[in-house]
Amino acid sequence: MNATRLPELIDVFAARKRLRGIVRETPMMTSSSLSRLVGAPVRLKLEHHQVTGSFKLRGAVNAVARLDETERKRGVVAVSTGNHGRALAHAASAMGVRCIVAVSRLAPENKIAGIREEGAEVRVHGDSQDEAQTLVERLVAEEGMVMLPPFDHADIIAGQGTLGLETIEAAPELETVLVPVSGGGLVAGVALAMLRVKPELSVIGVSMARGAAMHASLAAGRPVAVEEKPSLADSLGGGIGEDNRYTLAMVRDLVERVVLVSEADIAAAVRHAYLEERQIVEGGAAVGMAALLAGKVTVEGPTAVILSGGNIDMNLHQGLIRGELPSWCED
Ligand SMILES: *Cc1c(COP(=O)(O)O)cnc(C)c1O
Repeated sequence: MNATRLPELIDVFAARKRLRGIVRETPMMTSSSLSRLVGAPVRLKLEHHQVTGSFKLRGAVNAVARLDETERKRGVVAVSTGNHGRALAHAASAMGVRCIVAVSRLAPENKIAGIREEGAEVRVHGDSQDEAQTLVERLVAEEGMVMLPPFDHADIIAGQGTLGLETIEAAPELETVLVPVSGGGLVAGVALAMLRVKPELSVIGVSMARGAAMHASLAAGRPVAVEEKPSLADSLGGGIGEDNRYTLAMVRDLVERVVLVSEADIAAAVRHAYLEERQIVEGGAAVGMAALLAGKVTVEGPTAVILSGGNIDMNLHQGLIRGELPSWCED
């Protein structure tokens, strides 16, 4: 890993080559209901149809492919609420590399099962991502394993950037793109790739109002910790890291703004995705749609909404479709 250089468009092209054969090029569809609402074509990037159910496979494959011989032998470790762990497990197993994933007790059961099915060892540790991280640090120190973080890493960001390349190639007419934001690896990579191709595009980030660490950090001008609370957008939980090196600077420089949506907005968007678009998406993936539907953002011209993942507990999903909001996420 190059510790100082921010990823560039050339790194995204190199990542795309490494991803071939493991990562799927996901389809886009036009949403007639959202197009009517916005008054311009709205395209949905169906990344929840990605292998492992989320875009995180892109960064994970790129990062594992970049390891040297010694690093591959020792294996990789990560801390993850689920989608990064699942993606890393799949990437490592596709490339014959050992993988251990540490998760906090907040991680949903379906996501833990998903990681195990991909062939990694799962260790549950602590009540937050930061606590689970201490276990990872021990494995790095004691067993020489390589830690691959979910977002703040040049190869991960470049891998996520391939999603942006695919989107702008499929729809060069786009003027705005809405991207879910947690640690910012997705939006940093997507913004980098798309803006280097089309500089006049607006990239807008969307987070849940409950615990939006990137939003708070942008306002403060430095990494800020926020209280972790359960949310329908569980894949957007966690901080951006006290020693954030890449994503805060990239998001500050590339992303027009980050808007926030409520739990009720997210629930309405998951329902809309299912009933109007026939798509099963997780809460964290529905925030872009939530922002449009709730009027938290006004966009002009052709717009893309990134649906970043589909790993939602199906009991929760069915409740949301019936119009129920779980008591733990009332605003
Ligand atoms: C991880 C994740 C995000 C946020 O990605 P960051 O790179 O952390 O900003 C969004 N949606 C889904 C489904 C995710 O798994």
